[in-house]
Amino acid sequence: MNINNPTADQETHFFSDVCKNFDHAAQFTKHDAGLLDQIKSCNSVYRFRFPIRKGNSFEVIDAWRVEHSHHQSPTKGGIRYSEMVNEDEVMALAALMTYKCAIVNVPFGGAKGGIKINPKSYSVGELENITRRYTVELIKKNFIGPSIDVPAPDYGSGEREMGWIADTYATMNPGQLDALGAVTGKPISLHGIAGRREATGRGVAIAVRECVSVGEDMQKIGLTAGLSGKKVIVQGLGNVGYYSAKFLSEFGAVIVGLCEFEGAIYNEDGLDVEAVFQHRKSTGSILGYAGAKQEFKNTMDGLEQPCDILVPAALENQITAQNIGSIKAKIIAEGANGPTSPEAEEAFYKAGGMIIPDMYANAGGVTVSYFEWLKNLSHVAFGRINRRFEENSNLNLVNMVEGITGVPLTPIQRATIVKGASELELVNSGLEDTMIRSYHEIREIYKSNPAIGTLRNAAMVGAINKIAVSYQNLGVWP
Ligand code: NAD
Repeated sequence: MNINNPTADQETHFFSDVCKNFDHAAQFTKHDAGLLDQIKSCNSVYRFRFPIRKGNSFEVIDAWRVEHSHHQSPTKGGIRYSEMVNEDEVMALAALMTYKCAIVNVPFGGAKGGIKINPKSYSVGELENITRRYTVELIKKNFIGPSIDVPAPDYGSGEREMGWIADTYATMNPGQLDALGAVTGKPISLHGIAGRREATGRGVAIAVRECVSVGEDMQKIGLTAGLSGKKVIVQGLGNVGYYSAKFLSEFGAVIVGLCEFEGAIYNEDGLDVEAVFQHRKSTGSILGYAGAKQEFKNTMDGLEQPCDILVPAALENQITAQNIGSIKAKIIAEGANGPTSPEAEEAFYKAGGMIIPDMYANAGGVTVSYFEWLKNLSHVAFGRINRRFEENSNLNLVNMVEGITGVPLTPIQRATIVKGASELELVNSGLEDTMIRSYHEIREIYKSNPAIGTLRNAAMVGAINKIAVSYQNLGVWP
């Protein structure tokens, strides 16, 4: 494939969709055509193969690591474990990471990795071999390191895999003080950070809450302001989908539909997300859950049921020109990367809907990964040094105010005021602040020119402008 002219290849379209979106948004900027081309292009594409032993035979594994942009270092992005993964997809996801980081002001370039396997077909030992060998291949080519390129979990991978990567990198780089900053999304016991596991889903829920809080925008699409009572369908009950559903429900929304690859369930009065999750864990399927009023064998039927908000949080290309006409939701919040095709997006906006784009909606993961990386470089947990000091200061203040006023606080009031922030509270507060500020940055751009048309274009315009400034600051561009 011609890596920077993907439209030349009929087989591939995800990267070209991202490029089309870039080209459209670029019209609303004033940058030199060469600079725009540099921002859009994938800088490095490393495709490799390695053998592993499976039972009594050997198998050759296809793998990739793409570093899309080096306007900031390190580059950052998850590793996808999927038998469907291909070079085009990894390039598209790497590009989205560049724009995503810029949108939420995380100082990284974008990257992504892919290992072409179905993780369910391998034993834990085989998965460990694959992950460690993948890491070694990256080390050999200088494609990983705390100041070079920092992987994280994605579809099909999680804390366990990140732990193997951290251990392999640290073992191969003895004495490197910052070695554990070479990968994020690690278990807490291996210097991960509180709140990372749920960060992407929590970020999706905050993004949706912020979007629906703007009465003026909700009126235009025929919804009332506020999340309370809004009906939501979520596709995917993995890391992003499960936590999106959990936090949306905690914030007051009603989860009416859940869709997995084996099928979908629906109840207009609401589903208990935790109970469905436990049901799937014990039976292997969401089907058969007693609290569902309707069941669908095809996950796609689940997306088309009545709701206000649809959260696709499984894979790309789920909402296309073929099924967009049947989607009842007024808002699509993209938990997954690339779930909506450009044609479907156009049709959805024309029909009076609104899409909270992946580049922003699922940026909570990389935001907290950034906090984890900072923690690893500083070698201290957030809150460790100042927590007790803050508590003592707060206590002195409370005692003084009580002494002056003569009004004693209740033990609960006292504990609430005195308490210093834990790592989890600091992480969640930083995440919330990032998601809220970024939403309004995007919305301001969206409102500034009706021709921009969509929140995705607005997010992209903002990202392009920020990345252009980085290149100009590097002195690469006048
Ligand atoms: P995951 O592997 O934890 O979960 C994915 C879930 O989707 C699984 O439960 C799987 O069974 C389900 N699924 C697969 N095919 C499906 C189908 N056709 N219909 C319905 N469900 C299906 O993966 P994840 O980490 O939750 O990632 C999901 C998406 O979110 C991906 O697009 C990923 O790139 C994106 N994302 C993930 C993160 C993160 O921090 N994990 C961050 C940003 C974006």
